[in-house]
Amino acid sequence: MQLFNQNFLNMKVLKFGGTSVGSADRMRQVAKLINNNQPKIVVLSAVSGTTNQLVEMSSMLYKSDVARFNQLLLIMEDQYTDFIEKLITNQELRSEAFSVLTLHMNHIDAFSKDMFTKFEERAILAQGELLSTAIFALYCKQEGINANLFPALDFMRINNEGEPDDYYIKVNLERMLKEFEGTDILITQGFICRNAYGEIDNLKRGGSDYTASLIGAAIDAEEIQIWTDIDGMHNNDPRVVQNTQPIRQLSFDEAAELAYFGAKILHPSSVRPAKEKNIVVRLKSTLDPTAEGTIISTASNRNFIKAVAAKDGITAIKIKSGRMLLAYGFLRSVFEVFELYKTSIDMITTSEVAISLTIDDTSNLDEIIKDLEKFGIVEVDRDQSIVCVVGDFLAERAGFANEIMHALKEIPLRMVSYGGSRNNVSVLVNSDHKKKALNALNDYLLHQTGEGME
Ligand code: ADP
Ligand code: ASP
Ligand code: MG
Repeated sequence: MQLFNQNFLNMKVLKFGGTSVGSADRMRQVAKLINNNQPKIVVLSAVSGTTNQLVEMSSMLYKSDVARFNQLLLIMEDQYTDFIEKLITNQELRSEAFSVLTLHMNHIDAFSKDMFTKFEERAILAQGELLSTAIFALYCKQEGINANLFPALDFMRINNEGEPDDYYIKVNLERMLKEFEGTDILITQGFICRNAYGEIDNLKRGGSDYTASLIGAAIDAEEIQIWTDIDGMHNNDPRVVQNTQPIRQLSFDEAAELAYFGAKILHPSSVRPAKEKNIVVRLKSTLDPTAEGTIISTASNRNFIKAVAAKDGITAIKIKSGRMLLAYGFLRSVFEVFELYKTSIDMITTSEVAISLTIDDTSNLDEIIKDLEKFGIVEVDRDQSIVCVVGDFLAERAGFANEIMHALKEIPLRMVSYGGSRNNVSVLVNSDHKKKALNALNDYLLHQTGEGME
């Protein structure tokens, strides 16, 4: 189905994260980067720190600690007042910006007067992106840039299952793009959306990347660019390991594995829509715009260990059952328990007498354990991390697993998963060993060639 007319083809979608819009200077830099007479959709996150502050305000309201909530709200108002004063010099636009700020502050404040539930929390969390885009749009106006606000709540939507409603998104984007014909730059909010009931919702923390990718896929964009505070996907977690290197090229599958297994630079689901439409995703740094960054596409350097990532907060569950394990239907019965509680499994290994698997969502753990105990003895290990080695591992090329195991020889491994896909070898370690594991893999596998091991 081709919904769009020629005018909307060859558009790029550019997403700028929290740090990239984190100060008046950074916003000025973003305006420079986007102002080149090419039609584009610009997706902005909240100013860095704002969503965390809104989460904290919400937790105060859950606890009915209105005094602390009021303090936090005042701090935020001061920060934005300062931000606007530094960014917007035109008096008329500045007073418009202050009116917008007051509107949002009053809106947040109103939630302290009544009952506070998940519904109100989601509405509070949306204020960060609504504020950053409103302020940025006023700055663009001041600079004479042909830009307009393009409200995400009018087209971005999730369904009953919490999954993007692709059809709704596409149809509404088409309608709105026609309405905005003649505007070069459409500024929209990342992260926020409506749910199946029309309420304000979001695409989970870090979700602005996902917004950009969903828009890109819906409009068949020429390219999706994720602008952040680092020069692309690095070959290891720069928060844990020193001297990590940017990776120039990744396949969609490799990038998806890294994002899913903890590379914070990309939201875990953000690669899928781009992959489905074969749209190139480029990761770039606003702090160093001339750096090459990373290109994510169908191309990949074959036979290469590319990168390592780690995902924390993992719980391992072992079910021991000598009697039943090999009986057919047993695995299905176990999986049905997880299906019942809508809990997805990340890693799985089996032996003659036991099955081990991991989950990261423990909200229904007690019920899950109770149900699993019908099948045998259940053991639970919390505070685990999945360490995931990603690359293009051809089965024909011997030795990858050996190299990985050799690098990790000093570290106790709780589970090992190899062969599930050609892109991923994962091990489960106690989170206390994560740093050592990432560094060992870096020293042995990644450091030697700068990009990875062949
Ligand atoms: P933004 O606010 O722009 O969305 P994020 O903080 O979500 O930025 O993502 C960028 C951060 O991701 C980097 O500053 C870096 O610390 C972290 N990160 C974790 N793993 C990786 C990796 N493999 N490559 C690059 N960055 C990574
Ligand atoms: N502002 C949201 C967050 O902090 C979304 C994002 O930055 O991508 O999670
Ligand atoms: Mg992010």
